[in-house]
Amino acid sequence: MTALIICEGLAKLSEMVEQWLVDLMASYNAESLAKKEQYSAQVHMRGHLFEELVWWALQALPDEILVGLDVDSKSANRLDVETKYRSFSHRRNLFQGQGYIINEARIVNRGDSYSVHHLPEEWTDGLFSGDRGSRAGRFTHWLHTHPNAPAIPSNADADAAQETNGVDMILGLRFSPEGPLPWFDDVEGQRRTMGDTAKVVKKPGKKRRSFFARNSLPVLGVAPSGHKIHELQLIAFHKSGVGINVILVDEEGHPIK
Ligand SMILES: [Zn+2]
Repeated sequence: MTALIICEGLAKLSEMVEQWLVDLMASYNAESLAKKEQYSAQVHMRGHLFEELVWWALQALPDEILVGLDVDSKSANRLDVETKYRSFSHRRNLFQGQGYIINEARIVNRGDSYSVHHLPEEWTDGLFSGDRGSRAGRFTHWLHTHPNAPAIPSNADADAAQETNGVDMILGLRFSPEGPLPWFDDVEGQRRTMGDTAKVVKKPGKKRRSFFARNSLPVLGVAPSGHKIHELQLIAFHKSGVGINVILVDEEGHPIK
């Protein structure tokens, strides 16, 4: 049975983001701009929230976490930024909350890759009206984590997204020590790696890499939990299957650079 935790998930606006994460977010934004034509719409998210998501993901190990994300009416995207990142095939009114910066995040569930998609009944009874489906959609957008796996939606992820009014996001993390979760890389799909991708030498017939190979991975930074982070991936998608471009922004709504 999965334990439900309710974290103090509301981010403090004044928090300083670690420099290596700022650098990663800047390179991610540069790629979001370069590849903007691959996306039908964009979603802006505060950079300090992204940092919190990474720390929460590691604190919850070996579980995945499900995070509800929200916008408010005072957090409209900057129009100059929207224009810059808009693709030729841009679609208006594609999802709920479109045009507003994600500025709230709260952990609503943790567990294995199946249970994070399903909130317990008692949670939905207490806090949400009962007619909102398995995800109890108080939140506009949802994000879940893929610890030591790429940020590529599974079939269950695609099913769960059908109840999302906003967009679904996946944060993939590669870290060590791995604990019970060795890096799982055997997944097909489009990836959005932040910064340098860890170079893996695959040896046929060997599921786990050697101690030496594991220790030669580049380290992007070290989390407060003590984990070395080797790779971060972040994607957003709409339930129709189209990719949504993510732009990580500062307090004024400018892309982090
Ligand atoms: Zn998933």
